[in-house]
Amino acid sequence: MTERVRCLIIGSGPAGYTAAIYTGRANLNPVLYEGLQPGGQLTITTEVENFPGYPEGIGGTELMDDLRKQAERFGVDIRTGIATKADLSAAPYKITIDNEQVIEADTVIISTGATAKYLGLEDEQKYAGMGVSACATCDGFFYRKKVVAVVGGGDTACEEAIYLAGLASKVYLIVRKPYLRASQIMQDRVMNNPKIEVLFEHNTVGLFGENGVEGAHVVKRMGEADEKRYDIAIDGFFLAIGHKPNSDIFKEWIDTDEVGYIITEGASPRTKVPGVFAAGDVADPHYRQAITAAASGCKAAIEAERYLSEHNL
Ligand code: NDP
Repeated sequence: MTERVRCLIIGSGPAGYTAAIYTGRANLNPVLYEGLQPGGQLTITTEVENFPGYPEGIGGTELMDDLRKQAERFGVDIRTGIATKADLSAAPYKITIDNEQVIEADTVIISTGATAKYLGLEDEQKYAGMGVSACATCDGFFYRKKVVAVVGGGDTACEEAIYLAGLASKVYLIVRKPYLRASQIMQDRVMNNPKIEVLFEHNTVGLFGENGVEGAHVVKRMGEADEKRYDIAIDGFFLAIGHKPNSDIFKEWIDTDEVGYIITEGASPRTKVPGVFAAGDVADPHYRQAITAAASGCKAAIEAERYLSEHNL
């Protein structure tokens, strides 16, 4: 079964919904597929306090519900489904949904986001939203004067540890190797911050707590003869071990960096395929904020509108 649309938006985070609002208002009759996680990453965070326009803050799920309603107001056709295959070899572009339905689209806005990596511990799920977070900028504020741990040794982990050190009373940085992978400047900042204690050669094997995280079970030099197991008392556990951009099905057609982030033309959302745009975290290894994703969704929508009018579509 094949259907032809003028504008297909894939993903329902702030980028996808903002693209939907703009293309809906511009009468492009957009169709949006919600994807794997309807509402995107914000639906797994608690309170969003840094999205402009909400002086008292707003729940992540509530914010995404509002964006969805705003898109619906402009007639956007919002559907449940996951894009499972893409053929961007020639326009109209063919996107397969749920391995069965093929949508032919004159323009495609890829806003499939990125997924934070977790260690894979059962306790991470058990304490999701109760002390476990993969976003210090989103949730750090709730840990003022508390003790937190950040896992990871890259630039993100260092950045998050430094950010959290500005709020929390103490930050453990749990690093599995005997060294940090982060850039020298970030390493220096971490090592010189009196609130951060780096636990090199440490792995986390579990979390504990009655009504939320109260501590972590850690292992020093796991598997070695001098292995040492002990607990640290913490109130928050932050993962910063990387993100995986959800770009796999597009990689054959458009450029991505070594991690998988879609490469666009300069600061625009244009990919190297005309009429195909990338917005939000799937194309953003640097900022990954709801507001920057929303802004890029707006840019993608404006680009799609121009493309359609230039090509009389
Ligand atoms: P990275 O891939 O650079 O680092 C991931 C870190 O997590 C590594 O230290 C890695 O350990 C660790 N890790 C991965 N899996 C596990 C695991 N299962 N258990 C424990 N530790 C684990 O990701 P980042 O998100 O830090 O950075 C991504 C890119 O973005 C990089 O290129 C970075 O430079 C860039 N960036 C730049 C910033 C800046 O310039 N200000 C800010 C943020 C990101 P190991 O070293 O052992 O593999």
